Amino acid sequence: MFDYEKYLRLEMFPHIWCPGCGDGIVMKSLLRAIDRVGLQKDEICMVSGIGCSSRLTGYVDFNTLHTTHGRPLAFATGVKLAKPSLNVIVITGDGDALAIGGNHFIHACRRNIDLTVLLFNNATYGMTGGQLAPTTPTGKVASTARQGSIDPPFDACKLAIAAGATYVARGTSYHSQQLDRLIEGGIKHKGFALIEILENCNTYYGRPNKVSLLELLQWEKDNTVNVKAAERMTPEQLQGKIITGVLHQADRPEYVAMYEEHIARAQAKARAAA
Ligand code: SF4
Repeated sequence: MFDYEKYLRLEMFPHIWCPGCGDGIVMKSLLRAIDRVGLQKDEICMVSGIGCSSRLTGYVDFNTLHTTHGRPLAFATGVKLAKPSLNVIVITGDGDALAIGGNHFIHACRRNIDLTVLLFNNATYGMTGGQLAPTTPTGKVASTARQGSIDPPFDACKLAIAAGATYVARGTSYHSQQLDRLIEGGIKHKGFALIEILENCNTYYGRPNKVSLLELLQWEKDNTVNVKAAERMTPEQLQGKIITGVLHQADRPEYVAMYEEHIARAQAKARAAA
């Protein structure tokens, strides 16, 4: 039996998440992945923005920063540059990372800075009442789109790959064992790692769209295909399916290492000129 309690701040419980929310499933997966990598608690700094998922940093017993809306990647970049030995893990939601923090997201990918980002994608702004998010599927109802959204949703993984991220994976809260492996791979990767997690907000996404918690989890099961299985499927079979697994992995110079080399060169130049 996995000992979750050794990684939790039990004095912060009960948590604020609604019963059945995907955030708890993902938190448990993250703790198992950290345990598999074998990191000590003080070797980790976890940084979150604002939103239901970002409350996670209050419940876990690592170095943690609960920051401002859309800015966890900016804070995390500062932490990583100041203390490169830390494993910096960013907890962010779809609104936090792709709307308010959209530019930070693009540029963190571009720099290939060694951060592991867990993007909790529940297709809505849960904490603030179910407003339309950048990932809300077209046609779905939100508190700011009563007739259904007319916007096309972002594909966060394609965006990250195009912007330069070097580890890009997608999992779901339904496939929790696969998610353990994807997060483990992201933590071990040297460079910018994104793990997008399709997960359920049964309260502010489920209720207005008249889908239950079980139907939301069933949707994750029925509408996703692992990248390996997808290789054996025809375009017709893949129609409407969302691919999960490691979608992209590349080897490219990492930002902190380049920055340290840059400083060393500047110092050598200054010494030579003195
Ligand atoms: Fe989870 Fe949605 Fe409830 Fe927030 S509002 S805790 S995302 S179910």
